[in-house]
Amino acid sequence: MKCDVLTLFPDILTAYLNESILKRARDKNLLDVKLYNIRDFASGPHRTVDDSPYGGGSGMVFKPEPVFRAVDFIKEDGELRKVILLSPQGKPYNQSMAEAYSREKKRFVFICGRYEGIDERVKTLVDEEVSIGDYVITGGELAALVIIDAVTRLIPGALGDEKSVEDESFSWGLLDYPHYTRPREFRGMQVPEALVSGNHKEIWLWRRREALRKTLKKRPDLIEKVELTDLDKKILSEIKASEDA
Ligand code: SAM
Repeated sequence: MKCDVLTLFPDILTAYLNESILKRARDKNLLDVKLYNIRDFASGPHRTVDDSPYGGGSGMVFKPEPVFRAVDFIKEDGELRKVILLSPQGKPYNQSMAEAYSREKKRFVFICGRYEGIDERVKTLVDEEVSIGDYVITGGELAALVIIDAVTRLIPGALGDEKSVEDESFSWGLLDYPHYTRPREFRGMQVPEALVSGNHKEIWLWRRREALRKTLKKRPDLIEKVELTDLDKKILSEIKASEDA
């Protein structure tokens, strides 16, 4: 994944990008992130990036000029780019979008808003508005990191073990199955027998059953959308019957 992030607070991103999986992905050149401080593209002695809203009201509005200048500047190299504005009014981000982005050949530009929001005219620069959920946070930086993180996990070679992506929540339309590690007994709680059986088929079946059970309980909406095999349908009817009993 290649991206340019336009922000007033690059240090917020630097800290996260320099740790763990994202750091490793950058070291391996699987992830290329360039940070641009939008204030560097503002004019005037104070490099002001905000102003009061036309029509009155509370808060300040992110001015359009520095954002336009920053986007013009980074587009000068002619590389194909997809410009994304982080916004609570955008398309809700999910695993399918992360998968689509991981296959995207274009370089991403993330515009991180602040204040009451960004001057509406900036939207003429934007290919897609993306939200990370139905709540309002202080700025787009965390949202950009959420998107970059979820995409990076899907890039082959970014994780130590590629299999872990295949099993994760949402990757096959269901929530992930429960995980256990040593000790086998903790405060009277046992690790399920199937997981210590050493029998791969039994382990697979237990995990599939528990993923279906968890999804049915916590996110029945996902069950409606997923393509179930005949075996899944059989397991689900057994789960429902045992819970009704
Ligand atoms: N007044 C705006 C509204 O109600 O739609 C919210 C502005 S918010 C305080 C400032 C910036 O944070 C936004 O411009 C956006 O970049 C970012 N932001 C806030 N919530 C977000 C969300 N759920 N998803 C993505 N970005 C978000």
